[in-house]
Amino acid sequence: MDKAVKAIKRADRIAVLTGAGMSVESGIAPFRGEDGLWNEFDPQEYATLSAFKRNPEKSWELFRLQIEECLSADPHEGHRSLVELEDHGLKAVVTQNVDGLHQEAGSETVLELHGTLAELVCPSCGSREETEDHLDEIIDGNIPRCECGSMLRPDVVLFGESLPRETLRRSQRNAEETDLLISIGTSAVVQPAASIPTLAERTGSVLIEINPEKTPLTPRADHFLEGKAGEKLPELVEQVKG
Ligand code: NAD
Ligand code: ZN
Repeated sequence: MDKAVKAIKRADRIAVLTGAGMSVESGIAPFRGEDGLWNEFDPQEYATLSAFKRNPEKSWELFRLQIEECLSADPHEGHRSLVELEDHGLKAVVTQNVDGLHQEAGSETVLELHGTLAELVCPSCGSREETEDHLDEIIDGNIPRCECGSMLRPDVVLFGESLPRETLRRSQRNAEETDLLISIGTSAVVQPAASIPTLAERTGSVLIEINPEKTPLTPRADHFLEGKAGEKLPELVEQVKG
């Protein structure tokens, strides 16, 4: 911990990469693992582009659960610590999460690699709407429709779809330019998000990892803080401030 604090104090530019583990303490289950959603919902049947095209009603069963879970969740101390870190060089939070909790906590620059549940898009005409405005009908079990008549879908990246190009480009540029990257709550195996730590490493960045478990990234991290995001981040940022 002491060495990680010193590294952060020395860094001019800091970037953060977060995954599903960042939101666990806000009550949102990750996809993998014991309580993971994939135990209940086979991703091939619910969360691929072809599954959605074949049977949107089925995909909406998963979307509905995710929307209910994420829109009622609140950010935790760890999310708030990342807002405070902006006074000490944090330039961007690159996230694989679709729950909007970094923005809700007040983070200035959030790059959502996998999109967001907070907005709905029309696959036919491209029109966008706020999920919030359709919440009642979604909770009632209905699928919201666009004015053009097509079913709307959340603006999240499904399996088989490419990531939003401009967001990926900005995330990669942040990784290349950063002096220090903190990877939090991600197994760092899903590409191309996993390329973010690799890019940072290649351009000489210090790597800090926060996770209760070791990941494929751990052997490459300069500092591994073993523990939960909601505990380790406040501890880390308090010491950086002090
Ligand atoms: P993942 O494989 O990256 O796994 C989550 C990681 O979080 C694991 O390494 C685990 O050890 C770690 N973790 C668990 N509890 C933690 C805690 N309290 N603090 C810090 N780390 C903790 O993610 P996944 O669940 O397989 O998801 C794959 C994709 O789906 C990613 O894009 C993910 O972000 C997205 N997803 C997003 C949300 C969300 O928006 N909240 C929820 C589920 C999945
Ligand atoms: Zn439309």
